[in-house]
Parts: sequence; structure tokens; C-alpha cells
Amino acid sequence: MSKLDVLAIGPHPDDVELGCGGTLALAARQGRRVGILHLTRGERGTRGTPEQRLAEAEQAAAALGAVELAFLDCGDGALRSGEPEEDALIEVLRTWRPELVLGPPRHDRHPDHERGHRLVAAAAFYSGLRARGSRTMAAHRPAAVFSYMQHHSFEPTFVVDVTAVWEAKMAALAAYRSQLYQPVAPAAGNEIGSGGGRAAPVGGGAAGRHGDASEDGNAGEHGGTSGRGDAVVEGEPGFPGDQVGAHWQGATDAIHGRIGEADLRTKVSSREFRLAVEGRARHFGQLIGVALGEPFWSAQPLAVADLLAIVPGGQR
Ligand SMILES: [Zn+2]
Repeated sequence: MSKLDVLAIGPHPDDVELGCGGTLALAARQGRRVGILHLTRGERGTRGTPEQRLAEAEQAAAALGAVELAFLDCGDGALRSGEPEEDALIEVLRTWRPELVLGPPRHDRHPDHERGHRLVAAAAFYSGLRARGSRTMAAHRPAAVFSYMQHHSFEPTFVVDVTAVWEAKMAALAAYRSQLYQPVAPAAGNEIGSGGGRAAPVGGGAAGRHGDASEDGNAGEHGGTSGRGDAVVEGEPGFPGDQVGAHWQGATDAIHGRIGEADLRTKVSSREFRLAVEGRARHFGQLIGVALGEPFWSAQPLAVADLLAIVPGGQR
């Protein structure tokens, strides 16, 4: 068993990295045990082998310093949040026993994200009830569940200063561009699951690229400018990537020889994509007096032990 301090849960591979990758990297650098759970394998994505997809998610997690990574099979593009999915998530929560859970927001453009929010909130509560889930596992309820921001903006309850770990977040996002472009290789001995093993109660092992249905690559959500409208799907009207799994499409296109490496660099690793993600971080960062921030929402008030520690701009 591998107890975690922080568990980040995302509906699809890359949701966590985009929404709270900096916060995870910061927690890991502060000595916290951080884990990532993807509720789907991005299986609606039509390209790339399961092995490639697993490698991408593992590399992203390693870039953030996560010590655990797992997947559930809740249904990409039609995410299920019923009792079986709750039980599967309860098993993960009781295995890793995280103090804090970071999950998707209440309201978002993608229905999978809203369903993911409900699933995470329900499972986090029910996991504390002995009457639910496996009777052989001790009940465990995380102390708090915070929501990271995805497509829709919200008034944040708090913003985390991720300035010092921004490059780690960028490295995690770069991992989803496939093996053709990996600016940061995972450090030796830092492979996910080494030591603690990988908890994958339902369908674990096979990873997937983000497979949001109806994703059109709006800046600020997922693949940003690398989704629809990216030239990598040019000449293929009606290609499934337009509706499903458009995130990071260029990378797997490149693997299959549809575009050249130079195209990959100019599209997927484009300055526009980086600016879109960075722009939001700079906006929320400046609200708290730092360069780059990640916003979060909490349903309940936060407990403050040191009033000066939460002053915008940090302690002077
Ligand atoms: Zn998503």
C-alpha cells in the first residue's frame, strides 16, 4: 500500500496535467506523495497504440514527480458515474488513502468533466462509509476535495503559486505529444509505480490519449490550439479526431507518418498552445501577486492556520 498526500483525478489523460500539474509538481517538490488517477484511458482516441499512450501518461506523471499512476474504465466520451464506478473509485481511495483530492470542476463545457466532478465528490464521501465498497478495506474519507479549472472559468477559492515549477508542468504536457518530442526525460528511478506498484483496480495498465468527444481545442482547455483547426487533420474532413480525441492529435499523426517532424514542432509544440495555457496561469497568478498561478474551487471554507501565509504576493 502506498499512502498519498495528494491524489489528482482527471476524466481523461491530460486533464490533470493541464488543470493542476503545477500544483502537483509543487507538492512533490515539497516532499508530498502525489498520485494521479485518470478515470478513462482516452479510448475514444483513434490513434496511437495503448503502449504509446501509457508511455505518454507515465512520462507526464514522472515529470510532475508523481509516485503513483492508475486508470479506471469509466467510459471516455460517455463517462459513467454510477454505483460500479463509485465502487471502483472508492477502492482506489481506500488503497492510496489521500489526505487531499483534486478533481474536475462542477460546471464545464465537456459533460465528462461535470460527470467526473460528481463521481469524485460522491466517491470521496462514500469512501468514508463502511457500508459502501469492499468490506475488507478500511473506510477512508479525504479531508478535502478541491476542483481545478478546465474550460469554464470560475471565481477561485484560492490560487496556488506555481511559478517555480512551471517547467515541470510544461514537461508533463509535452509528454502527450508522443515520443517524437520530449523536452524532459523522466529521471532514472523515477518511473511511476516503481516500489509501490500500480494500483489499477479496473482496467488498469492500458493508457490512453485524451479522448474528449466534441472537443474542438479551445484555448485554455486541453490541447488548446492543437485540437480542431490544427492543420494536422487537414485534408481529412470528418476524421474522427474532429469529434473525438482531438487533443494532441498531431503527435500520433506524426507517429503514423501523416505529418513530418517539422510540422509537429510548428503545430503541436507551437508557441500559440504554450501561450494559451500560460495566459490563464499568468492571469490568475497576477491576482495573487505572483507570475503564474493555478486556480481552485472549494465547496467548503478553508481552514487557515497562519493568516500571513495566505497574503497575496507571499510573505515578505
Ligand atoms: Zn477532459
